[in-house]
Order: sequence, then C-alpha cells, then structure tokens
Amino acid sequence: MPAIPPIPKTMRAAVTRGAGDVRIEEVPVPPYEPGLVLVKVAACGVCGTDIHILGGHMAPTWPPHYPFIQGHEWCGTVAAVGSACKTALKPGDRVIMEPTIGCGLCQNCRQGSYHLCLEAGKKGGGYKLLGHTADGAFSEYGVAPPTHLHKMPDRMTWEEAVITNQVVIALHALDRGRVEPADRVAILGPGLLGLSVLQLARAFGASRTYVTGRGYRLAIAQELGADVVIDVTKEDPVKVIMEDTGGRGADLVVECAGPPEAMKQALALARRGGRVVLEGINGGKEVPFPTDRIVLDEIALIGGRGSPNCYPRAIQLIMDGHIHTAKMLTHRFPLADFREAIRMFKAREDGVMRVMIEP
Ligand SMILES: [Zn+2]
Ligand SMILES: [Zn+2]
Repeated sequence: MPAIPPIPKTMRAAVTRGAGDVRIEEVPVPPYEPGLVLVKVAACGVCGTDIHILGGHMAPTWPPHYPFIQGHEWCGTVAAVGSACKTALKPGDRVIMEPTIGCGLCQNCRQGSYHLCLEAGKKGGGYKLLGHTADGAFSEYGVAPPTHLHKMPDRMTWEEAVITNQVVIALHALDRGRVEPADRVAILGPGLLGLSVLQLARAFGASRTYVTGRGYRLAIAQELGADVVIDVTKEDPVKVIMEDTGGRGADLVVECAGPPEAMKQALALARRGGRVVLEGINGGKEVPFPTDRIVLDEIALIGGRGSPNCYPRAIQLIMDGHIHTAKMLTHRFPLADFREAIRMFKAREDGVMRVMIEP
C-alpha cells in the first residue's frame, strides 16, 4: 500500500464564486472530525448538472451559497477517519463517494428511499446532496460520512469509479422499470445515462434494444451493442420502432433526454401494457400527455431520479464486465485546467463523453 502523505492545512480547489465564475484557489482542507471521513481525491467527473450549477441556472437551490465547491462524482483514497465514525474504513482504502445523504430519520429514509428524504429543501434539515447543496470535491480533498463511501475492489480503476456514478442512476431507472427477459427496450438519449441503461438492459436479458438520439454518441451506442440506433434528425423514432416491433411497440421505454418532445415520444413508443420510465428533467415545462392512452392501454408511467441502494450492485456489475467504461470516460484534466475541461465538455468537442478532473 502506498504511504499516506501527511494532511496539509490547505488545498487547491475549483471554487465557484458566482454564476459562470470559477477560479482555482487555495482553501482550507475541510474538517472531518468527529463524524466524517477525509478522502484524498483521485478523480472527480464533470457532469451535465455541473454545467447548470456553474451557470447559476439552479441557484439558490444548487448551490445554496457562494463561494461553493462543486463536484459530486468523486473517488479517492481515505486520508483520515473521524474519531466518532463507526466504520471499517481506514487510511489507504480506495472509495467511491455516494452524494445523496438523507436525514436518516424521516419515514422515507427509514423505508430506504433516502433520495426522497422528506427533509430535502428544508434549512438545517439532515438532507444533503454533496456537490449540490454542500461542498463537493473539485478539490484535492473531500469529506463524506462513512456510510456514503463505498470501498472499491482492488482491481477497479479510478475511471471505472467515476463511471459508477452514472451506472447507479441507470440501475435505479431499471429498478423502477423492471427489465424482464425478452423485453424490447427503447432508450431515448445516448448520453452517459442512456448508454449505461443500454448496457444494463442487455445484461438483464433484454432481447432487443433501440437507442434514439443524434451525433457521434449514437455510434458509441451501436458499439456498445444497441441493436437499432435511430438518428432523430433523419428518422421518426416512433415510426421506426413501431415497424420493427410489428406495430406492437417497446415493452420498456427509458427516457434519458429531457425535452418535452422526448417525453411524448417515450409514451408513444410503449406497447399496450408497457412501461415508461422518465429520467430527464426539463426545467418545469408542462408536457401535454394523451391520458386516455395511459388509461386504455394501461401504460405505467414512472418517474426515476437518483440512485438509492445502488452503489454496491453497480460496482459488482462493472467488475463482472457488463459496462465498458473505456468508451464512456474519454478525457482527463488536471485541476489547473478545470475551465478548459468545462469548456470542451460543454462544446462536445473531440467525441467527449465523460471528463474527469484529477486534482
Ligand atoms: Zn452527476
Ligand atoms: Zn429523511
């Protein structure tokens, strides 16, 4: 095991000071006593949500204050364990951080739905979403409660650890939508979430998969095993999938895109008696739905968010070879180049999928 370096007083961090204003600064290493674990961050993924938070589109919910340290897809090596932590974790262990922290006391938390904690949004409540409502780790160190640090298998790479943060969301979407053997599964949106849903659906026994979207990401979907990819700029996905299924439609549709048009398509693609999981959010817009279709064709319309109770299973699925992370984690940047990383991720340059920062 490599030696654990002594913990310094200060660290480098990408500090968000206001909408669109992020600077690399020297800040105090976050306190971890008594109940938190201090982690030397090895990598932190840049997520689409980070772009919105940085742009100020979600303030004052995310972040609730400035200055703020973003970054919720992080992993690293345990540097110190708070004296009151009940945990087997010890310095030197490699861990993946799970960002959603429920209060642990409300009825939803006690039923395992800590991502739907009833204290969320309340000032001073126990709910936290690290990197959104409390500091994350585009920084050299991060802190989290021991319950939200998942130990990495020895042979897991940092790249795989970063991608785990998307696989967990895909896994929860499929927990909600229940892939059954021989299901035909349609996935709207070939982003990292859609590609994760695709690979898991195949692992869970889907007999045929469809991915709709545009651009270079569709080619990646094909490489990852999608049976049919549909470029929405050239073809109508509803027409293509209805024809391909003999007019029946998909058993399960997982919408990972967000725009109202995709939401409506998702419903139109489902077979009679089919299931639709909506994962995208579109900023509060109302989407008109043909409710008669939901009733008369018994469509189960299901929302999904976050990744409760998913990390250990996602780690296992990745280790068992069901997710090809190399096609998903495409770029690495040192913390000093944080702004360049954000710029190229936003511009979708160079076939970018996931970017990771190595502080
Ligand atoms: Zn994210
Ligand atoms: Zn709660």
